[in-house]
Parts: sequence; structure tokens; C-alpha cells
Amino acid sequence: MSQQENHLVEKALLYSCYPQDESFSIHMLTSSERSFLTNAYLIETENALVAVDSFMIVSDAMALRDLALKICKPLISIIITHGHPDHYNGNSVLLEAFPGIPVISTQGITDCIRDSVDAKEVKWKPYFAEDWPAQKVLPNQMVTDGSTLILDGLLYHFRDLGAAESTSDMYFTLGKKHSVVFVGDVVFNRVHGFMNDGHSARWLTVLRELTQELAQVGQLFTGHGQPDQPSALISAQIDYINAYRSQVVALLEGTAQLSVEQKIKLEEAMTRLFPDYQLSAFIQAGADSVATELQGELSSA
Ligand SMILES: [Zn+2]
Repeated sequence: MSQQENHLVEKALLYSCYPQDESFSIHMLTSSERSFLTNAYLIETENALVAVDSFMIVSDAMALRDLALKICKPLISIIITHGHPDHYNGNSVLLEAFPGIPVISTQGITDCIRDSVDAKEVKWKPYFAEDWPAQKVLPNQMVTDGSTLILDGLLYHFRDLGAAESTSDMYFTLGKKHSVVFVGDVVFNRVHGFMNDGHSARWLTVLRELTQELAQVGQLFTGHGQPDQPSALISAQIDYINAYRSQVVALLEGTAQLSVEQKIKLEEAMTRLFPDYQLSAFIQAGADSVATELQGELSSA
């Protein structure tokens, strides 16, 4: 077996879902901790594949591409769930193997990528070096809130959520029965939240709406962590954000930002409250953004 096949086998986690009334299956790949345990998916229908996100680095995107080639059906679209690079950066790798296919997302997510793509490269390229894709491909087919696409006979229903975990998020459900939902990073599963974008209050509002909207959906597929039943995951995400905000408020004590020592205390508190959650590096990274957001809320109250 070649090196590349080895890499694929190690990373490939096949998750199959065959609702009785609709014929599709979902393949899930998860990157290593180095590239943030990000999930990307291939939705397989009778004649084709659709990718959900494309990873951050070349080697991860190549594993996704190789899985598509192994399934031996054409990749006909890529759907980008939100504008963080661990979800869109591998587009060019997929497009090399499947040229000309549309990259589907909302206008808000496309704007987010366009406005942040250069800054993300400045931050991360030194760390990932040659594994950072040289070419950036932005979404080129827009969907709007409430719109539906049919891809290889399967319905994709899109919902534009606006700012939540990132500056612009969305989800989509599959099929006539909306039996599964892909939410990007609006909901994590046993992974510390990425709080850096500073919309935690709005994120909570969106999650409360999703509790109702996704009540009938059977399975939720997240950007980080294992798939599971929506209501349990959404309620855990609400608890996490409330806890994070409470801890930051308690540590701020009237000051504008958390000191280095206070950020360490924040990490200690959050790892104590959520002991089995992965990616604890996210805890301190989001502290300044949430502190700024909370100061704004307090001064406008
Ligand atoms: Zn992510």
C-alpha cells in the first residue's frame, strides 16, 4: 500500500446513514489535532458525490479527494458551511481532481472568506508551510435563506443564520424528510468552542432558534466532533457558551481585558467544567474577543 493510501486509511472514518425513505450515505473524515480535528464529509447518492467543506491543509484535502476517487463517483459540488479556513482552504485541491465544479455557499460566508483570507494566510502559513494551499478558491454559486437545490436527485435545503460562531453561518438539511442536518461550527460535540469571532450573544440566540427548528431532525453533523442527535448537542453548546461567558465576566472584575494569569484561570475553569472536551487551546484564544463583547454589552445595558 502506498504512503498516500495509508494516510487515507488512518484518517477515514466512514459514517453511513441510510434513512429508509431516501438513498444517500455520508462519509466523514476528521483531521488531526494539528489541523483542529475538523470534519469534512462526502454525501454519496446514486451517481455522484457532494463535499461538505474541504479542510485547511493540502494533506487533509488530499485525503478527502482520495476518498472521493476511491468511491469512484464524480464529485459534483462543494458546499462550504462557513468562512473559517479549516473548512474552505482545501477547495483548490478538490478542484484539481474535479475541475469546474461549483463551490456553493451564501453571500455572507463568501464575504467573510474574501475579507479574512489574506489575514488567515499571514497567521497560519508560517506554521503549515508547504501544507498550506497556494491557491484560494472562494464560493462561486450563492444560495439564499430558504432556498433548495437538487443535486443528483437529493434535496438540499439551505438556511442562512447570519453571525453565530463565525461572522456568517448557515445550515442545510437533506431530503424531503430533513432527516439530517449539517451545521458547520454552529454546534460542536465535546470540543471547546471557537470563541474568537466575538458573537457569543448572537450565537446563543441562533442556538435557541435551532432547538425548535431542528427538533424533528434525526442526526446533526458538526464541524468538530462526532455526529449525534440535535437537541442534546444544541443544548450542550448553549451550556458551553453560557459557562464561558460567565467565567469571563467573573474574571474581568471591572477591567477591560483579561491578563495572562486570568486567561490561565479561564482555561483551568473551563477544563474543570468540561473535562472530556478536546482542543483546549481554543479556550484562551477566544478570551479577548468575548471580553470585548461582554464589555460592550455591559456599557450599553
Ligand atoms: Zn472549524
